[in-house]
Amino acid sequence: MLERARTLDAGDPLREFRDRFDVAEGVIYLDGNSLGALPKATPDRLEEVVLGEWGQGLIRSWNSADWITLPQRVGAKIAPLVGAQPHEVIACDSTSVNLFKLISAALAMRPGRKVVLSEPGNFPTDLYMIAGLEQQGLAERRLAPREAMADAIDENVALLMLTHVHYKTGAIFDMAALTEAAHARGALVLWDLSHSGGALPVDLNACNADFAVGCGYKYFNGGPGAPGYLFVAERHQIEVQQPLTGWMGHAAPFAFSDDYAPALGVDRMLCGTPPILGLAALEVGVDLIAEIGVERLYAKSQQLSEFFRQCVSEHGIELEIVSPTDPARRGSQLSFRHPEAYAICQALIARGVIGDFRDPDILRLGFAPAYLRFEDIAEAARHLTEVLETGEWQRDEFRERAAVT
Ligand SMILES: *Cc1c(COP(=O)(O)O)cnc(C)c1O
Repeated sequence: MLERARTLDAGDPLREFRDRFDVAEGVIYLDGNSLGALPKATPDRLEEVVLGEWGQGLIRSWNSADWITLPQRVGAKIAPLVGAQPHEVIACDSTSVNLFKLISAALAMRPGRKVVLSEPGNFPTDLYMIAGLEQQGLAERRLAPREAMADAIDENVALLMLTHVHYKTGAIFDMAALTEAAHARGALVLWDLSHSGGALPVDLNACNADFAVGCGYKYFNGGPGAPGYLFVAERHQIEVQQPLTGWMGHAAPFAFSDDYAPALGVDRMLCGTPPILGLAALEVGVDLIAEIGVERLYAKSQQLSEFFRQCVSEHGIELEIVSPTDPARRGSQLSFRHPEAYAICQALIARGVIGDFRDPDILRLGFAPAYLRFEDIAEAARHLTEVLETGEWQRDEFRERAAVT
């Protein structure tokens, strides 16, 4: 299998990009879907921003280094990767905060309707952000299983809010069909692209999407806690109003007026002063993903995940797969169900194979194709086989839960 992997690596058009990442020695990293790896260009860029722009330029850098337009600049670079126009995307805040802004905005655009429709088992923060608005009496949460989603949209639904690629299973929603179904009943749609952006081609405008949010620290390799991004379709940019009316979303922040007046366009989605260090790191990650191209990345991730399945099955291991078996219907990951998934995941980490565990019983392996080789996949499958066959995961040390799982 290692032979086959090496042949595949030799023919891999993306093979030279691995060297653009600082991939830890002796590690097979299958968690780029949770925290993307470090691009080698990031430390140099951060040094320049910290020592040069901050240290030497001081406050002048808001203008001279163009710090003030960094949210727009990074947003414009993400835009073509998600099928948006440059002025429809802005990089800011966390995904959670961006969800709050956009859910609120959507509810305000559909007076008389209160329901925010999502699916049970959506990423927790997405559901929790609806709960907060529910407490304030502004929203009413409705959850429907994915097979019944289109039928659950009625005239009370203000917003359909779904995660395009499911964080646990990797299953992909049909963005075009569900957006159309929601619009047919007068509802707006908000797509969470946290597991899609930078991993697979997304075409928000071809699908007629209204709003979207996404994450900067996963496939965009922006670093821990990197800012997220949000999308507002051009047609909504006059009407959309968000509740976090901070000064950076003001039409003229430096007029220091007592009264709020929203900026034109997507800029009004900003709230406070942009985190320049985080955005600078994110920009490097986005540039690199744009250079490789999401089509090529997705094509390779499908090959990697299929190759992993082949390797595991050739080792004679049977694992319950919870991801769609058709690679065209899943994102860049494979998830397996096992009652001892936590301990198995820990045993793999001890061998240098870093995947993650999702409560209660999911072993999730992400295939970030920019820096993974087929050889890594063959090795990861061998390690998993050994961990299972030897019962290594039963050791006590692998059962203790850390704070972050
Ligand atoms: C990772 C992820 C988030 C993260 O939100 P933060 O505010 O950055 O913590 C939100 N939604 C989904 C679907 C995610 O996968």
